[in-house]
Amino acid sequence: MSALHDISVADLARRLKSRDVSAVEVAQHFLARGEAHGDLGAFLATDPEVTLAQARAADERIAAGDAAPLLGVPIAHKDIFVTRDFPTTAGSKMLAGYRSPFDATVVRKLAEAGMVTLGKLNCDEFAMGSSNENSAWGPVKNPWDTRRIPGGSSGGSAAAVAARLAPAATGTDTGGSIRQPASFCGITGIKPTYGRASRYGMIAYASSLDQAGPMARSAADCALLLSAMCGPDPDRDSTSLDTPAEDFTRALGGSLEGLRIGVPREFFGEGLAGDVRAAIEAALQQYEKLGARRVAVSLPRTELSIPVYYIIAPAEASSNLSRFDGVKFGHRAKQYADLLDMYRKTRAEGFGEEVKQRIMVGTYVLSHGYYDAYYLQAQKVRRMIADDFRRAFAECDVIAGPAAPTVAWQLGEHGSDPLADYLADIFTLPASLAGLPGMSIPCGLGAGGMPVGLQLIGSWFQEGRLLNAAHAFQQATDFHLQHPEGLS
Ligand code: GLN
Repeated sequence: MSALHDISVADLARRLKSRDVSAVEVAQHFLARGEAHGDLGAFLATDPEVTLAQARAADERIAAGDAAPLLGVPIAHKDIFVTRDFPTTAGSKMLAGYRSPFDATVVRKLAEAGMVTLGKLNCDEFAMGSSNENSAWGPVKNPWDTRRIPGGSSGGSAAAVAARLAPAATGTDTGGSIRQPASFCGITGIKPTYGRASRYGMIAYASSLDQAGPMARSAADCALLLSAMCGPDPDRDSTSLDTPAEDFTRALGGSLEGLRIGVPREFFGEGLAGDVRAAIEAALQQYEKLGARRVAVSLPRTELSIPVYYIIAPAEASSNLSRFDGVKFGHRAKQYADLLDMYRKTRAEGFGEEVKQRIMVGTYVLSHGYYDAYYLQAQKVRRMIADDFRRAFAECDVIAGPAAPTVAWQLGEHGSDPLADYLADIFTLPASLAGLPGMSIPCGLGAGGMPVGLQLIGSWFQEGRLLNAAHAFQQATDFHLQHPEGLS
């Protein structure tokens, strides 16, 4: 029988339900495995006592005949979600030692579904980054090659799942932070339509873009998890959509016969590395074998998504991060002359370089005299980017392309040049700006034996269709079952 860390969320749930293994045994197994691979830097906080208490409670529910589909299955949360039972830092010194008095809605929903929390996962500071190198607590290593980055900002989540330290993890995606690390670590991740999952208790980066989603090894597992995470939360998140919770697993198993896959010309330009292009091309051919049809589409403003995103996201961040002032919670400077000096020192000490840079950019683009030229203009182009998708979806059912232009780069490779990171976000930003669901599934190996992710983008509320397309691909291929060599 396969080791507990090798089986899917669905199989784990089945084995737990049949009492073949207990939730406590499963939790112990993963806790030990996480500790043995602590050098990856994926976990920021664990607390075996808390985890085992949750596992015991799950075992009691199983014994009582509770049939919740995720009962007893472990999960680890990106440290951007506040948790009552574990510290929450958002990867920042600003929140060192912070404990939330409540759980984020997504965390609460997964706990109610019976999932057992293994701990909190490393991420870029306040989810700002593409490599996880912006975490105040050190980088995360890519389990496929520990000299490389795992992607970001949900780098700890992707690395933990790829190294099988957890069967699943939560992530958040503002401009690609679920899809890009999933792609770099050879796992499956989905960001739902904006508003599907509650943002309550997800430490805000750019509120009009932030969305939570699951990261796991397969689309089938993501479907299970996403069903438990989503649903309206009108009292706590005014942007949560009033659409009833859905069981996305019901969308799986459908035929792809006649599915129109839109291939945007702009996703296959000069900047796309040859190894990634080849893997994506092979994946598209696989889809044709499954009965899908390729349709050429155009997303003409793809390039503009970089300046637009890097104006809007910092603008919202500069406002959201004003709450970290040394008064309400988190770090406070030890010595200061007066109130203003306290704010200044607290923020200078608590925030890292990239976060400060973005607060400055955001404050600038919102300031009187520049607002119209930058922020307002960016909002207009954002609308045009969404319109481009609307036009493309008149001709196709799903859009496919690379999640990132290259495979994971070396730790330190982009040095102190944030633009190199920003440019690499080009294929994930458009769907984020349009609020569309997007996912990444493993589709081959590129340079250095590193995973390549195929990005699938759906029209609004088409998560089921996306998951079905991803699942069909995974039924026909085994890329999602491959894992890093040397990591037994
Ligand atoms: N890399 C992008 C950024 O730094 C996206 C991050 C995210 O999705 N949280 O903003």
